[in-house]
Amino acid sequence: SLSDRLTGVFDRLRGRGALNEQDVREAMREVRIALLEADVALPVAREFINKVTEQAVGQQVLKSVTPGQQVVKIVNDELVAMLGGEDAVGLELEAKPPVVIMMVGLQGSGKTTSTAKLGRLIREKHGKKAMMASLDVNRPAAQEQLAVLGQQVDVATLPIVAGQQPVDIARRAMESAKLQAADVLLLDTAGRLHVDEALMAEMKAVASVAAPTEVLLVVDSLTGQDAVNVAQSFSGEIDLTGVILTRMDGDARGGAALSMRAVTGKPIKFAGTGEKLDAIEPFHPSRVANRILGMGDVVSLVERASQVVEKEDADRMAERMMKGQFDLNDLRTQLRQMQNMGGLGMLAGMLPGMKKAKAAMQQSGMDDGVLGRMDAIIGSMTPKERANPALLNAKRKRRVAAGSGTQVQDINRLLKMHQEMGKAMKQIKKMGGLKGLGALFG
Ligand code: GDP
Ligand code: MG
Repeated sequence: SLSDRLTGVFDRLRGRGALNEQDVREAMREVRIALLEADVALPVAREFINKVTEQAVGQQVLKSVTPGQQVVKIVNDELVAMLGGEDAVGLELEAKPPVVIMMVGLQGSGKTTSTAKLGRLIREKHGKKAMMASLDVNRPAAQEQLAVLGQQVDVATLPIVAGQQPVDIARRAMESAKLQAADVLLLDTAGRLHVDEALMAEMKAVASVAAPTEVLLVVDSLTGQDAVNVAQSFSGEIDLTGVILTRMDGDARGGAALSMRAVTGKPIKFAGTGEKLDAIEPFHPSRVANRILGMGDVVSLVERASQVVEKEDADRMAERMMKGQFDLNDLRTQLRQMQNMGGLGMLAGMLPGMKKAKAAMQQSGMDDGVLGRMDAIIGSMTPKERANPALLNAKRKRRVAAGSGTQVQDINRLLKMHQEMGKAMKQIKKMGGLKGLGALFG
């Protein structure tokens, strides 16, 4: 991952006082590759690198971190800033009702699905009355599709009148929304397979009738560079107020998000994360920054882990980790949780440091069954040894090995892994990931 690579570049530089230009340029080559791999548009990558370089060169290296970590932090912060800052930007729903939200985008981008998702969100989370209308007269059964989704999310849809044109449907929807005292009216517009004049003209005509408070561009994050071109075309034609990035559940690496923000100048307000109608989330720049940086998807680990971790254990662990007191008792708790969470393989991709620990274990011929053996090893130690592994001299190690039916080298591996994990925890802490980690065990 990028953070590994950066750390690699800078490992050699440990101990220098300030980041010099040549060091930073070298690191930026890695950043550039990572950005392009993540599907970031070239001009955006270039601008990004210039910004980071400007900030990094000459910066004093803090005592407690390595230069690599410091650069990762600068890169991370700049990614978050470029993605729109720390906070998710919500819908503007305070205008005079009915507040009109117009959904635009290409066919298949997820407009209709996102319309229904937002309808549900507005009803459920905002406690407001929503209404939806499909203006898609091109695609057969498009209006019926929205009606069906409307039933599923319990949001009214405008009755379908055959043969009506989009602008007329929009007028009728406005009237109906007023009559029914709806707070919000969602207009799902037609898309085409590509950007064309007819599409744009129709969209503008609808906008002039409906005077939308929100015009949300729906784009498929999996289309990468194309998504960016689409965004550019749309934002040249209509005043967008925000973007919804769909299919973020797929393996899009987040580059589209970064470019999107730079190209449209508008916030990404939501991420679509699945086909189900509750699969929509406020867009969190820090998560996507994580994804691009390969810092380990701490957040999704948090979510999964919080399902299996017992609360009391959890609080104690989080506290101890933060204090740097992660001992072998804690490691044992961790091992058991790892087993609950699906073993080593699953964790390895998520937390920085785990990957290294896992690689080290596999190199020495260890597998998932090892979790149980490690548990046995720790079980054969005295409470004092567990609390203070430094006590484990050769003699004690032989005793523990005999007690757990393992070899001294198994004990050594376990101790090494414990160290790696301690280091990883410190790294996460320094990189500001501890907020997430605290929640992980909370
Ligand atoms: P439209 O043509 O823009 O209205 O697109 P639709 O809303 O009809 O969506 C097209 C397809 O994409 C449907 O099968 C949706 O279920 C699917 N889809 C929409 N949003 C998402 C998402 O966030 N994740 C996934 N996996 N599928 C999505
Ligand atoms: Mg549609």
